[in-house]
Amino acid sequence: MHEHGLSLEAIYQARRRIADEAVRTPLVRSMALSTRFDADIRLKLETCQPTGAFKLRGAANMLAALIEARGREALAAGVVTASTGNHGRAVAYAAARLEVPAVICLSRLVPTNKVAAIEALGAEVRRIGASQDEAFAEVERLVRERGMILIPPFDDPRVVAGQGTIGLELMEDCPDLDRVIVGLSGGGLLGGIGAAVKAIRPACRVTGVSLTRGAAMWESLKAGHPVAVEEVESLADSLGGGIGCDNRCTFALVRKVMDDHVQVSERAIAEAMVELLENEKQLVEGAAAVGLAAMQEHGLDVRGQRVALILSGNAVSLETLDRARVMAGY
Ligand SMILES: *Cc1c(COP(=O)(O)O)cnc(C)c1O
Repeated sequence: MHEHGLSLEAIYQARRRIADEAVRTPLVRSMALSTRFDADIRLKLETCQPTGAFKLRGAANMLAALIEARGREALAAGVVTASTGNHGRAVAYAAARLEVPAVICLSRLVPTNKVAAIEALGAEVRRIGASQDEAFAEVERLVRERGMILIPPFDDPRVVAGQGTIGLELMEDCPDLDRVIVGLSGGGLLGGIGAAVKAIRPACRVTGVSLTRGAAMWESLKAGHPVAVEEVESLADSLGGGIGCDNRCTFALVRKVMDDHVQVSERAIAEAMVELLENEKQLVEGAAAVGLAAMQEHGLDVRGQRVALILSGNAVSLETLDRARVMAGY
């Protein structure tokens, strides 16, 4: 363990493990945003991952680390998780690639198109209960009774190290980076990037962006310990959900590596989504637009700085995109 709770060596090790699964994504300068903010603004395109989001890095690293430590036989019963979103897709994809059986537990309320998308990646979908909590109870049962291994969405050092590989790439592609602006939910993404960046270039600021409502990490940092919040609808649905009241890893890590923390409104997210599509030709989901939303809504002073925005994923439907367009008044 490093002073930041996650060693640089663990992140380099993750990079070696996932090299053939996750893409080393481009860091592209935006001329329009650079001119407008009088800064050097770059976009880190995690939307280029084969699953459309960065979560593949963490899932692939944890699976490969398990195989390395315990051998393939130990994974014969397979891996399991309960996410409908980018994490579920990442686990299904990484497991298929590594030829490990995967079960994704989903509530009966999850729409059939989402179920079909996960099945198409080769995972077994188990539809159970009427809520995410009931789906989680099934995950726990499969772990207990069938010896399956849970791949958590953020709160595991192997998952966080995988997300940290983004930080290594940022430091290589822009060694003088002044600031990285990162969407924040469970904290695997910000914690991993922050651990890598602070180890290599401590002067680089790490700015976290949370939602205004239902932001578990924001409320937990304020309280000084993990707290539960009520989940609310958001354009940035990938930023919803809690951090776990028994959080073991990301809460402390985020507290150590994050320099500043802002919240963004739905309106600002909508405007940023539309702008990234219209001006940058980047199709992103709400969670991936919060960095730009924060710069616009809070007037973050980035003049003269080299700034990276993490475009974390592209899982957005036409309906949601249209809702954003209307909300942005475009
Ligand atoms: C999961 C996710 C995030 C937030 O990552 P955490 O590790 O939970 O903080 C941001 N953007 C997208 C697209 C995601 O899927």
